[in-house]
Amino acid sequence: MIRANENYNKLQASYLFSDIAKRVETFQQNNPDTHVIRLGIGDVTRALPKAVIKGFHDGVDEMAVDATFRGYGPEQGYAFLRETIAAHDFQARGADITADEIFVSDGAKCDTGNFQELFATDIKIAIPDPVYPVYLDTNVMAGRTGEFQNGRYENIVYMDCLKENNFMPELPKEKVDLIYLCFPNNPTGATATKAQLKVWVDYARQNRALILFDAAYEAFIREDTLPRSIYEIEGAKEVAVEFRSFSKTAGFTGTRCGFTVVPKECMVFSATGEKISLHRLWHRRQSTKFNGVSYPVQRATQAVYSKEGQVQVKELIDYYLNNADIICKTIASLGLDYVGGKNSPYIWIDGQGRDSWDFFDLLLNKASVVCTPGGGFGLCGNPYIRISAFNSLENVTLAMERVRKALK
Ligand SMILES: *Cc1c(COP(=O)(O)O)cnc(C)c1O
Repeated sequence: MIRANENYNKLQASYLFSDIAKRVETFQQNNPDTHVIRLGIGDVTRALPKAVIKGFHDGVDEMAVDATFRGYGPEQGYAFLRETIAAHDFQARGADITADEIFVSDGAKCDTGNFQELFATDIKIAIPDPVYPVYLDTNVMAGRTGEFQNGRYENIVYMDCLKENNFMPELPKEKVDLIYLCFPNNPTGATATKAQLKVWVDYARQNRALILFDAAYEAFIREDTLPRSIYEIEGAKEVAVEFRSFSKTAGFTGTRCGFTVVPKECMVFSATGEKISLHRLWHRRQSTKFNGVSYPVQRATQAVYSKEGQVQVKELIDYYLNNADIICKTIASLGLDYVGGKNSPYIWIDGQGRDSWDFFDLLLNKASVVCTPGGGFGLCGNPYIRISAFNSLENVTLAMERVRKALK
């Protein structure tokens, strides 16, 4: 008898985006002439930068000729890309990361989801609430949690991120082995300072724990004092893995490229306490289960780092950050509390006692604007909504005029 992985039964059906779609559809049917503006899902809307398109085309052209055609590439990515990433994103910022510690992949969702395979099933895991749901769900699938009760899984240490702690996870009271962190955060938009990250690095070093640091929104950081990589913190190379993505950085959500940094100093431990190289495990995992990112996509990604590419990518992100600023100003002028919107494309808005679905319905029905109810990112997200800056300037400006009128 072929038996199922019954851990999947523990997963909570995520109705979030289908519920949103249903409500928007009903509204649109009842108001066929209304232009609904979507500031809900976290997907980019602007085209790939010109330099990236050129790199992409060049890569395709090489595939068209026997002399330059490429078959299987290295599973960890081509050296040209790994070297560029290490030099530009890390060494240039004083973080001593080398090309062979970079693992190029088809995005951060797979890597943040797959990485947990390398750990024992009976470790203690700390996860922020609210956060990107992939960290939790992939550990549920792997059987690291108990049942779902009263809105939470047994055997997970949830780190509540609330207004009271400035949406910053606090060190857990019980000892944990694996810690997920995400800065700038999805959905709250909160960022972490070097001092705040150092607390976690010190904790991990003292407790032989490991940090999985998701920096998918690193490119939105504009304050020079904020760290863009966890490796800017002393000692982090021993205890942290970092995930990056070109999705939000360069408009790659449909093109697919990201990378994971696994420093050679990072160790995990056998039951008897012997050191095992985490780099070796991830290398083995990727070589066995992954066959690399397509060559033209890696060429397109390399073009992100060219001189023109850097200018164009900065312009792309500035555009979304300007949208975020418009959203922040509107929300502030209405006297609502919010976080994010600076160094982040997300604005996390306190509904001031409203349930997040009620707030969602209010914005949909009164302003024809779609947001995301915060409860979809965790129990602590319930009193909030997330508004995303990923849309055109025209749409964001119009949406905010409508929101201002609706909430005044
Ligand atoms: C969008 C996002 C990702 C990754 O996306 P990919 O497109 O799979 O690279 C990872 N983490 C967070 C927090 C995100 O919001």
